[in-house]
Amino acid sequence: MLTKIIFVIIDCLAVCALYFTARATDRINRLYARWLKRTLLAGIVAIYANILIAFSFSNLLAHIAYSFYFASIDWILFFLVGFCLEYTEHEQALRGMAPVAAVVMALDSVSILLNTFFDHEFYVFAKRDSASVIFYQTRPFLPFYLHLTIDYVAIIIAFIFILYRIVNSYSFYRTKYVIILSVLLLVVALNIAYMMFELPLDASVMFYALAGTLIYFSIQKLVPQGLMVSSIGRAVDDMNEGLILFDIADNCIYANAFSRQRFSIEPSEYNLSCEPVHTVLEALHAKGEATGEHAYTQTVNRDDAGCGDAVVTEHYLIRYTHLKDSRSRLIGSYFLVEDNTEQVHYLAEIESARDQANEANKAKSTFLANMSHEIRTPLNSVLGMNEMILRSTDDPQLREYAESIKLSGDTLLSLINDVLDFSKIEANRMDIIPVEYNPHDLLRECYHYFDQMAESKDLYIEVTCDETIPSRLMGDEKLVRQIMTNIISNAIKYTREGGVKVHMSDEGTASDVRDMVITVSDTGIGIEQEDINYLFDAFKRINEKENATIQGTGLGLAITKELVTLMHGTISVHSTPGQGSVFTIVIPQKIVDKTPVGEFKKHIDTGRKEYKESFRAPDARILIVDDAKLNLKVAQALLKSTLIQCDTASGGDKAIEMCRDTKYDLILLDHRMPEPDGIQTFNVISKEGLNTDTPVIMLTANVVSGAEEEYKRIGFADYLSKPIHGEELEAALIKHLPPEKVYT
Ligand code: ADP
Repeated sequence: MLTKIIFVIIDCLAVCALYFTARATDRINRLYARWLKRTLLAGIVAIYANILIAFSFSNLLAHIAYSFYFASIDWILFFLVGFCLEYTEHEQALRGMAPVAAVVMALDSVSILLNTFFDHEFYVFAKRDSASVIFYQTRPFLPFYLHLTIDYVAIIIAFIFILYRIVNSYSFYRTKYVIILSVLLLVVALNIAYMMFELPLDASVMFYALAGTLIYFSIQKLVPQGLMVSSIGRAVDDMNEGLILFDIADNCIYANAFSRQRFSIEPSEYNLSCEPVHTVLEALHAKGEATGEHAYTQTVNRDDAGCGDAVVTEHYLIRYTHLKDSRSRLIGSYFLVEDNTEQVHYLAEIESARDQANEANKAKSTFLANMSHEIRTPLNSVLGMNEMILRSTDDPQLREYAESIKLSGDTLLSLINDVLDFSKIEANRMDIIPVEYNPHDLLRECYHYFDQMAESKDLYIEVTCDETIPSRLMGDEKLVRQIMTNIISNAIKYTREGGVKVHMSDEGTASDVRDMVITVSDTGIGIEQEDINYLFDAFKRINEKENATIQGTGLGLAITKELVTLMHGTISVHSTPGQGSVFTIVIPQKIVDKTPVGEFKKHIDTGRKEYKESFRAPDARILIVDDAKLNLKVAQALLKSTLIQCDTASGGDKAIEMCRDTKYDLILLDHRMPEPDGIQTFNVISKEGLNTDTPVIMLTANVVSGAEEEYKRIGFADYLSKPIHGEELEAALIKHLPPEKVYT
């Protein structure tokens, strides 16, 4: 009885396994899953029949149960073959064979079921064991072997199709079919073994349950997982990056093709003391980091595309990371290796291109500085001498000529300044130097500066200002003046009749900063709407043909725009061709004193101011050093009325010699001279002789950005640029001469 109970329990377990597996097949959205499900359901019927055999209490009942059992095995095998054909993608063969096989199986099943009446396939007999428990068993007749043959033919058909697939497929897909074949072979082997031992109860159906479950796991878990593992392995091998995996005991468990090839890694012999991981770990350790990245370089011999071995330097970025499980427990670590060789080479190329560009830029700056210097030096003589003519003559004709020379000289100077300014802006070297100023003074200066220019073209110039604007502002007055000068000079240049109006007002109510609004309107030729778009582009002149007679470089507005932007302001234009233009500049300026500035008085000065020296210093003795003799003359002439005693030296050596013997009150020193130049001369004078404390003023045509600061850093007391302006020169002398020798 115990045998029966164990047998039934095992059968029940088999039913459960088949039932749950059958349900699980619903999740597989494939045709072969349906065949598998049918197989499993037929298996359940067979097991129920088997249980019925165990509990049969009469020969007839056992007879009926056996009939159902044998018939259901027919269908198990029929559906199993269907599954195998579908799974191995032999749909066409399946469609061709299934109807015939179904008929054969149906006939065989009917024949087996009719055995209850005719006893033609097998007979049932009762056998008692030692405890007198009855077991019903069967003995086959000849036709039963036909039934067995049909079943085995079905199995052989399945084998043939699976074998065919195994032969014709490769890599993992072959493994996938081999797994199915193995399961089937196992079942057949167990079944045959069972038959040989002639057990009292037929347990073969359990093997079908086992087979069904195994097949299910194979197609649902084993195959996809194997496929995933081998695909990931392939993909990681194909990666253009290296991956080296270590387990928790620091044994190398995997190195992909990239790392094996680049670092000659043999995973079974590789450990953390081998390169490159050793260097990476050492570097991270030195930085006190558990994980992180490190750049690694190696020089190796590589086959150079079949041209023999070449020594190459390879650069890598290696990242070391800990591997953790879902509960953050350490399970290993890995190194990701990125080949940075190309990137490093590109960077080197970019750096060298940048260096070349910097060199070129330096060369450009040097060229500009030299050009400016070379033009300023003769211009200094021209304007200086011209100044002497203006100071010394009252002849109206001569004065007119000299005025014209002055105007052209000034224009030339402003062109040079424009080019220099532009290069300064381009090199981001234009600095804002805020000072306190009175807006009325600024307007007045502009007015006087352009008054004569406008008058010479029969144009009026009108300057007005809101009385309420603050009386003292803080900002870069020089740049604001430069902006206004550019716009007003354009307005006069591009106006033939009528005139120019300049108006200053302010916007905003804040107590510390105000937007100063300067509008310059003219009645000139105007600008076409489409031209306004590129009005502020550098070197762009509009209507070049018509404006050919008007002097200009196309730089003025570009510089103006940059300067306004630098001061966080805006500039805009409204223009009507043939009627005139209005330029509006808005620049925020700090307020120092918000007392209203009041009514603007332009204080018209019609004639040229009679020159009058600002001081006299007959007891003072100065040394002027310049290699251009004409410049010495200019300086001497400009200081003539101050009665200063001027010694001159046409070179550094001569100046040093004179300074050894004579104590001067001040020295004016040119920079660029044949050796020793101004700075070398200064260094000697300030160490040797009688003039170690004498203020030395740099008088130079070098006006590049930063020059003034550099001279002062070296130790020069002051800096004057050429061409020298008489007033500026006198102001510098008053500042640096001993006060007791200066009479104002
Ligand atoms: P330029 O040195 O040629 O004057 P700018 O940059 O100062 O260079 O001006 C660019 C162009 O804008 C000029 O060539 C001129 O055609 C046009 N332009 C500038 N201001 C005016 C204006 N007030 N009226 C008409 N055209 C102007």
